[in-house]
Amino acid sequence: MQSERHLMKSSLSIAVIVAAAALGVAYWQSSRPGTNGNETQPAGETLVLPLRVHLVTGLDMVREAENADGSPSATLMKMTLSKKEAEAIISQVNDLWAPARIYWETDPEQGGGGIIHEQAGGGNRSPEEIMTLAQRAVDRKRGSTFNYMAKVFPKLADPAQNESMDAGGVLHPGRARFYHLYLFPYVGQTLQGTANLPGTFAIVGTYSDKKPNQNGFPLPRPHLIPGDAEGRLLPDNFPAAGALSATIAHELGHNLSLRHADEGMPDNLMKGRVKIRLGPRQISKARQQALKGPRLR
Ligand SMILES: [Zn+2]
Repeated sequence: MQSERHLMKSSLSIAVIVAAAALGVAYWQSSRPGTNGNETQPAGETLVLPLRVHLVTGLDMVREAENADGSPSATLMKMTLSKKEAEAIISQVNDLWAPARIYWETDPEQGGGGIIHEQAGGGNRSPEEIMTLAQRAVDRKRGSTFNYMAKVFPKLADPAQNESMDAGGVLHPGRARFYHLYLFPYVGQTLQGTANLPGTFAIVGTYSDKKPNQNGFPLPRPHLIPGDAEGRLLPDNFPAAGALSATIAHELGHNLSLRHADEGMPDNLMKGRVKIRLGPRQISKARQQALKGPRLR
């Protein structure tokens, strides 16, 4: 799911993106002499992109609904992910991005931004304000044109942990030294994530009531796509409720300028229920964008 407002803004730069994608193909052809032109071969060297994963704590998100008999139901959602679980998830995100030779580095010793727990609002906002913002996120409906990506989610972040954010929770993408992925308990009704296109700000919910858990009964999401005996990720082992790793890889794809398109692949990362594979045009386009944003090497 992309930020609608951001989509409108970025439509002006479509021509630039198309031109960049064309250049990407030319770069790929010229930089790999001696290859047989196999389209699945990515261009050039591995691009290492610094990522900070923010596990946002101190948020009680409550989704209310009615049971079939009309009695009230409420699901309380909190951040429960450990740093170790997030590490495993990001490791699979890197498996999904490996065909593009793009690596998301979280290890601070390697220049990454770390995987951190942070208090919602950085402790600078009153409990009432945090509660109001959390409820706005919970009440968010798919297709809403309200700018949650500017007016709600950044305000729930800790500005001290994001160099591209000012003290008021306003994002200045030009200042970013890291890509910033925020994991919240919940990011909106039937939604799983949103990201700026392109950008360095993405959000993902650890609970979702997207199919098959619709109608106000969110469930904690599976963390990973299970591998087969050889560890391969295949459409067959994709969980019905999706996996956090796949959603995160998808949202980071938006940050790298990719829109919803399947390139003729039913299991394409950017479209479809099963999100595993990137197409050659997407790889080229994402790499072009990666060269413009924060990068370690
Ligand atoms: Zn999307």
